[in-house]
Amino acid sequence: MERAIFLRSPNKLHLLPRHYSPRNFFSLFSSSSKSARSSSFTHRILHRPINPLTPRSLLLPRRCRFLPLSDTTYSSSFHFNKHHFSSASPYAIATQCSPGASTLPDEVEAKYGFEKVSEEFIGECKSKAVLFKHKKTGAEVMSVSNDDENKVFGIVFRTPPKDSTGIPHILEHSVLCGSRKYPLKEPFVELLKGSLHTFLNAFTYPDRTCYPVASTNTKDFYNLVDVYLDAVFFPKCVEDHHTFQQEGWHFELNNPSEEISYKGVVFNEMKGVYSQPDNILGRTAQLASSLFSNCLILLISALFPDNTYGVDSGGDPKVIPKLTFEQFKEFHGKYYHPSNARIWFYGDDDPTERLRILSEYLDMFDASSASNESRIEQQKFFSEPVRIVEKYPAGDGSDLKKKHMVCLNWLLADKPLDLETELTLGFLDHLMLGTPASPLTKILLDSGLGDAIVGGGVEDELLQPQFSIGLKGVSKEDIEKVEELVMGTLKKLAEEGFETDAVEASMNTIEFSLRENNTGSFPRGLSLMLQSISKWIYDMDPFEPLKYEKPLMALKARIAKEGSKAVFSPLIEKFILNNPHRVTIEMQPDPDKASRDEAAEREILEKVKASMTEEDLAELARATQELRLKQETPDPPEALRSVPSLSLFDIPKEPVHVPTEAGDINGVKVLKHDLFTNDVLYAEIVFNMRSLKQELLPLVPLFCQSLLEMGTKDLTFVQLNQLIGRKTGGISVYPFTSSVQGREDPCSHIIARGKAMAGRVEDLFNLVNCILQEVQFTDQQRFKQFVSQSKAGMENRLRGSGHRIAATRMDAKLNVTGWISEQMGGVSYLEFLQALEERVDQDWDGVSSSLEEIRASLLSKNGCLINMTADGKNLTNSEKYVSKFLDLLPSKSFVEAAAWNARLSPGNEAIVIPTQVNYVGKAANIYDTGYQLNGSAYVISKYISNTWLWDRVRVSGGAYGGFCDLDTHSGVFSFLSYRDPNLLKTLDVYDGTGAFLHQLEMDEDTLSKAIIGTIGDVDSYQLPDAKGYSSLLRYLLGITEEERQKRREEILSTSLKDFKEFGEVIEAVKDKGVTVAVASPDDVDAANKERPSYFDVKKAL
Ligand SMILES: [Zn+2]
Repeated sequence: MERAIFLRSPNKLHLLPRHYSPRNFFSLFSSSSKSARSSSFTHRILHRPINPLTPRSLLLPRRCRFLPLSDTTYSSSFHFNKHHFSSASPYAIATQCSPGASTLPDEVEAKYGFEKVSEEFIGECKSKAVLFKHKKTGAEVMSVSNDDENKVFGIVFRTPPKDSTGIPHILEHSVLCGSRKYPLKEPFVELLKGSLHTFLNAFTYPDRTCYPVASTNTKDFYNLVDVYLDAVFFPKCVEDHHTFQQEGWHFELNNPSEEISYKGVVFNEMKGVYSQPDNILGRTAQLASSLFSNCLILLISALFPDNTYGVDSGGDPKVIPKLTFEQFKEFHGKYYHPSNARIWFYGDDDPTERLRILSEYLDMFDASSASNESRIEQQKFFSEPVRIVEKYPAGDGSDLKKKHMVCLNWLLADKPLDLETELTLGFLDHLMLGTPASPLTKILLDSGLGDAIVGGGVEDELLQPQFSIGLKGVSKEDIEKVEELVMGTLKKLAEEGFETDAVEASMNTIEFSLRENNTGSFPRGLSLMLQSISKWIYDMDPFEPLKYEKPLMALKARIAKEGSKAVFSPLIEKFILNNPHRVTIEMQPDPDKASRDEAAEREILEKVKASMTEEDLAELARATQELRLKQETPDPPEALRSVPSLSLFDIPKEPVHVPTEAGDINGVKVLKHDLFTNDVLYAEIVFNMRSLKQELLPLVPLFCQSLLEMGTKDLTFVQLNQLIGRKTGGISVYPFTSSVQGREDPCSHIIARGKAMAGRVEDLFNLVNCILQEVQFTDQQRFKQFVSQSKAGMENRLRGSGHRIAATRMDAKLNVTGWISEQMGGVSYLEFLQALEERVDQDWDGVSSSLEEIRASLLSKNGCLINMTADGKNLTNSEKYVSKFLDLLPSKSFVEAAAWNARLSPGNEAIVIPTQVNYVGKAANIYDTGYQLNGSAYVISKYISNTWLWDRVRVSGGAYGGFCDLDTHSGVFSFLSYRDPNLLKTLDVYDGTGAFLHQLEMDEDTLSKAIIGTIGDVDSYQLPDAKGYSSLLRYLLGITEEERQKRREEILSTSLKDFKEFGEVIEAVKDKGVTVAVASPDDVDAANKERPSYFDVKKAL
C-alpha cells in the first residue's frame, strides 16, 4: 500500500501478517488468493503517490514503466511475502483480440457526442485501442477492446497542488463519501461490501488523481462505473463540510474543560507517513507496507523546488490545518471537470455502451480552461548540487550511532525523454540494481557502511525521470564515504561497462516479464492504464507506452552491434555523473523529535483554545458532538438501496474449479494443473519442515536467502544469479506455515518456486537442484549482510506495519503456528537478528553448521511434493526433468516430527516504538468456545469490518483503518487497527462488537449485498499460476472440494440469526482475548495509568 501513492484501500496482503500462515480463507476456499487483494478490507488506505513509488510500482514489483519485473526471482530480506508469489505472478492469459470489436460506425460516436482521434491495434496486448474526444468538453477517452473478461474503467484528473495542505489527497478521500445519485455516507464502502469488483480503489499522485474499478461481471462493472462517475463529478463533500472535517481535519473538543485536539483521517494518515523516516529500496520490499516515507517526500520536493512537485500532495500534518473548506471546494470545481479528465475503458464489453454511459455525464458540462491551468511545468536543471539534512524520530533506547541514512538523488532530464531512452534507462537500472548480484547493490552492501539500500533506482512516472540510491543504518562519520562510494562505483561502471553475462541475464529477465506480462492479482487492464496515463497525462501519445516491442528490438540490436558499453556508459555519464541536478539527503536520528513535534502541536492547540471565548468552546463541543452523531447514524435504507447491486441469482452456485491431476513420479506425489499459460511452466517444489529442531526455526528465512544468494563451489553468487536470470523467469525459496483446522500440529513447509519458458524447464530444475544441494554456507561476510538487511527490514516493518507485528504477536500467544511465524517475522525475530549479528562474528562455524543442519533435515524425497501449472503438453514434457531432479534428492527413512510446543506468555503487551500513531490488536481463539466453522463467519467478519469497525475506529476514531479477521485454520479471531490515534478507546470498540451484532437489524437487501461481496472475495480473479498455487495450498491444508462447496452454500444461505449467534461467539474475544498494541510511549503510559498494569511494556526500537 504504501509504496508510493496514496491508495484509497489497502491491500489485505499489506495489512495482515499472513506471510507464514495463510490465515486468509480466501486463498484456500476461493479460486483465488484474495489475500493479494483488498476488498474484504474495510479500511482504505489512501496512498499518496510519491514518485519513487507509483501506484503501479506499489502493486507490481517494479518501478520502471518498462519493467514489470517480479523480484520474487530473488530472495530478499522480505521473506514473509514470498508465499504470495501469486501477487507477483504472471499474467499468462493471452487476451485474443476480437477484431473489429471496437470499430464503431462513425454515427455511433457522433450520436454520443464523440469524435475519433486515432485508433491502433496494439500487438503487445492484443488489443484494439481507440482514442476519442468528447466534442463539447474535450474529455479524452481511451477505449481498449480485447477478450479479457477482467474489465477496467478509470477516470484520471490532473490535480497539481499549490501547497502542502493535502487538498488532492483529502478530496480523493472525500468524493467517494456520497454523491447526487448515491446520497449515503460512503458508497465506496457499500461497493466494497456488496460488489464483485476485482479492483476498487483510488490513488493520489503528486500531480494527478486516479479512480479505477474492475470487474469480470459486466452488470457489476457498469454499476461500479456509474457510482464512480457520479462521485467524481457530483460529490456531496463540496456542499457538506462534515466530510471535509472527517476526512481532512477538524478541531475536536468533547467537553469545554478538556483539551482541543486535531482529528481527521488524512491528518492521521500523514502523521504516520511523516513518522516513517525511510523506505528500503523498493525492489526488495515491494509488498511491505509503509514504504512511503518522510524521506521520499523530502526527496521529491527537493528535486523539484520550482514546480508542483515541490509541495506535498498528500499533505504535511503541520500544514493540513491551514486548509479551508472554501479552498477545498474551489479545487474540486476547477479540476474535477471533463475538460481536465482522461478516461480509460478496457476489456471485452461493448464499446458503444462505454460511450453511451459517458455521454450521460459529460454532456452536462461545458468546456472549461482547467486543462490549461493544470498543466505541469518542467523543472529546470540546477547549476550545482544541493544537500539537505533532516532529523527523524528515533527511539531513545536504541543505539543511535548507526542510524543515519544518506540518499543521493538526481533529476535525470530537464524535459520528458523519448521512449527508447527511457527503456534503455530502465535496463541500466536493472543492470546496476536489479538483483542482489547487480554491481551497485553488491558494492554498497559489501562495503559494510550500512545495513540496507534505500532509494528506488530509476523512477519514470512523473513528467521528468529521477534516480535515487543510498544506504540506511550508516554511522555519521561514514556518510561521506557512502557518497564517495556511490559516485566512485557509478564512475567505475561507466568506465568499465557491465559483464556480458550480466547484460544477458538482465535482458532475459526483462523480456520474460514483458512477454509474460505479470500483473498478478492486479488487473492487467489497470496496469496498462497506468502505463498509458504516465505519458497521456502530459499530453503525450497514450498508445506509445503500450508498445514496447519496437524499442526493445532496437535496443537489443544496438547492444549486439555496438556492445553494451557503448550503449550504457554514455547514459551513466550524461544523466548521472555529469548532471549537476543532484540532491543529497541525510536523515539523522533524533530521540527527541517525536516529543518535540507533539509538544509543538499541543502548544498550537493550547493557543487556539486560549483565543476562544466560552461561547466558542461550547459551540466547538456542540459541533464535535454533531459530527460524531452524524458519523454514527446509519444511512437510511432508501439511501442504501440507491447503490446498485447484483442479486443473489446472479451468483454462481459452485466454486471455481481448478483442474488437478494427482500422480506420482519416482514415488513422489505430483500435482498437475492443465491450464493455458502461454508456454510458461510454473513449478513449486515443497519440502516438509516438520522435522526441524525448534531452535533452528528463526534461522529459516536467512537459510532461504542464503540458498539464493551465497554461491556454490563452482559458481559465485553473482554467477548463480546471472544464470537464473538468463535461463528462467525467476526462482524464490520461502517458508510456509499454517494451522490446520481440527489439528494441533501445524502444516510447515519450505517451498521453492520457479518459472521458465517450456524450452527451459530442464534448466529450471537443474538450477533448483543446484540451489538446494550445492550452495555452500561459507561466506561469513555475506551472511552478515543478510542479517543487517533483515534487521533493517524488520525495523521498517515495526514502524510501518505495526498491525502485522501486533497480529503475529497475538497469534504467538495463542498457538504454535503463530509462535513459529513470530520467530520468523515478529519482534522475537528482530531480537534474534540482533543477537545473531554478534554470533556471526563469534561463532560463524556454529551458524554455518546450523544452516547445514536445516538443509539436511529438509532435503529428502520423502515428504517432498511437486506442483506444476502449464498446458497438458508442457506438463507431460516436463516429467522427465522432474524425474531426474527427484533422482538427485537424498532418500531418508521416516523422521519423527520435532516437538514444537512453544508459545509466548499470554499477557497483554505494548510494544513501544517512536511513533505518533498506534496499531491496536485484540484476539482470541473462538474454536476454544466450541464454535464450529460455518461459511457465514466470512460474511459476518467482512460485515463487522465494513460497518462497525469502519464507523467507530476509522470514521469517528480517526484511525486510518480498523478491521477484523478470522483465521479459519486456527480459529483465531482478531481485531486490528492501523495508524490509530487511540488505544484504550479502540479496545472498547472491539469489545462492543458482540453487542453490536446482538442488536443488529438488517433488511434483505443489506444481507444479500453482504453475501455477494463475500462471494466476490471468494471468487476473485486469478491468473493460471495463481490457480495452480491456490490448489496446492488447499492440498497441503487438507481442504477438499466438498468442503469448498459446503462453505459456499453456507455463505449463500447466511441469515440474520447467524449474525446474532456469532455475536455470542466473539464475546470470547472481549472476555478472554489477549491485547497487543504497537504504540507510542506516551499513549502506553497513559493507558497504564487509566487501567493499572494493563500492559506489559516492551521497548522495540
Ligand atoms: Zn489517504
